[in-house]
Amino acid sequence: MSAILEVSGIVKTFGGIRAIDGANFTLDHAGIYGLIGPNGAGKTTMFDIICGRQIPDAGSVRFHAERIDGVAPYRLAREGLARTFQECRVLPEETCLDNVLFAAQDKHIGTELLQAFTRNTRRRREAEAEARRMLKLINLEQYADSPAGALSYGQRRLLEIVSCLMSKPRILLLDEPASGINPTLLNTLHDFLKEIYAETKIIFLIVEHNMEFIMSLAQEIVVMHQGQVLMQGAPDAVQANERVIDAYLG
Ligand code: ATP
Repeated sequence: MSAILEVSGIVKTFGGIRAIDGANFTLDHAGIYGLIGPNGAGKTTMFDIICGRQIPDAGSVRFHAERIDGVAPYRLAREGLARTFQECRVLPEETCLDNVLFAAQDKHIGTELLQAFTRNTRRRREAEAEARRMLKLINLEQYADSPAGALSYGQRRLLEIVSCLMSKPRILLLDEPASGINPTLLNTLHDFLKEIYAETKIIFLIVEHNMEFIMSLAQEIVVMHQGQVLMQGAPDAVQANERVIDAYLG
């Protein structure tokens, strides 16, 4: 069986800087994966390449055996590959519920949802029920009818993740979801991601600097250093690896 995601020999330079320098890794099975490494290791560039925002100078990315490097982000989103960004993206003027519903327009629920947005169609009711269920899972149900701009920064980040999930991606890339989130919200996010994974088996690939968070959440960790993959393995093995300790954890 082919890998879910296969990154082979990726090279990406910006001017004289080799941001990615021959990186390889494979996500073979469903799971929650961490992508870690020091500042400048190439993690965000790797995300940008996987989701079609950047075109690599060399190498390939395959998603369920199909080449996807260079494919436009909106097309990849339709194929079930979604991502969040380091900077949070929500619609501040819209309610939390509408933020989540807008994000559901693409797949399964269909664009006609938007056309029928004010009508009480069955699809609209189903989508709204699902949106409210998701908001409840992440402890935001009491804000469903408040503008997203009224939420705290951490809550907005959670809202963005929920919104991404509404398009039912097969793989979701999260860029530093724990950054700037208080410990209570962090616990909520941790449990939420575990629950969504158990329920849907969607693959999560998560760039993260918060080691406690990612090591307790992920089943497997990919470590990048100087544009290459230093190691891929279980959290315990990664934390015990001397090269990883030298390059990053130490
Ligand atoms: P961080 O943990 O700080 O977010 P990162 O591992 O995500 O770092 P990248 O942001 O991918 O690392 O950056 C890798 C290298 O490529 C860095 O040296 C960075 O300065 C450089 N780089 C990334 N994007 C660009 C760009 N658009 N133009 C020039 N240099 C870039």
